[in-house]
Amino acid sequence: MKFSFKKMALASVASAAMAVGAMANADDVRVATDPSFVPFEMMDQESGEMVGFDMDIIREIGNRAGFTPNINTMDFNGIIPALQTGNVDIAIAGMTITDERREVVDFSDPYYDSGLQLLVGKDNTDVKAVEDLAGLKIGTKIGSTSFDFLTEKFGSDATITPYPGSADMYMALVGGSVDAVFYDAPNVGYFSQTRGEGRVKVVGPLYEGQQYGIAFPKGSDRVDAVNEALASMREDGTYDEIHAKWFGKAEE
Ligand code: GLN
Repeated sequence: MKFSFKKMALASVASAAMAVGAMANADDVRVATDPSFVPFEMMDQESGEMVGFDMDIIREIGNRAGFTPNINTMDFNGIIPALQTGNVDIAIAGMTITDERREVVDFSDPYYDSGLQLLVGKDNTDVKAVEDLAGLKIGTKIGSTSFDFLTEKFGSDATITPYPGSADMYMALVGGSVDAVFYDAPNVGYFSQTRGEGRVKVVGPLYEGQQYGIAFPKGSDRVDAVNEALASMREDGTYDEIHAKWFGKAEE
């Protein structure tokens, strides 16, 4: 009796040690992001670190939920497959929540309201709205909601070129190989006010109201903890501080 009790005690010590070991690994969480979806995620040239709105959000979520995000950059189009194969645990990449994506990944509660917008060269006076794009060359990103929007709207009535990354897409516009870029409003807005300043301009209305969500492999047990951390950041003003840091004061 005594002996078996001792064996049980040893067994539970062993499993406790295993649990501690698992927890030590578990607090390093593999997080996928896009290398250049400004100003949500981008490389800080000086530190070599990924910075941006999403990066601040996920690091703060990690602080609250007890994990350290280990940031992996990959083409936007590779992020959902990386979640599906379990190569990463979480993705934060200004990813729009859609019903189609919901079939293959889980999403957190929405954390950012967005939409799509048009960017043209600064001297372009012909393009004022999406309707004016028929017959033109339009740049966008592979695997994005903008690509879906454009192909649905134009089919073969416009030349839609999807690029793997934001930088290629914007350079195509600046270099004149496309007539317009159609992409996420905060991203085109930021580019037009930074590297694109004096070279490009945002035109027309906001299309397709969208919300960004943090994505997880289907059935992930991290969704609730991330949602709780997000909610507490909204409540105590941390979300607003991070928002103001990257986008200026929220419009009332
Ligand atoms: N919000 C867009 C989408 O989900 C693009 C995001 C991105 O390029 N990182 O399709």
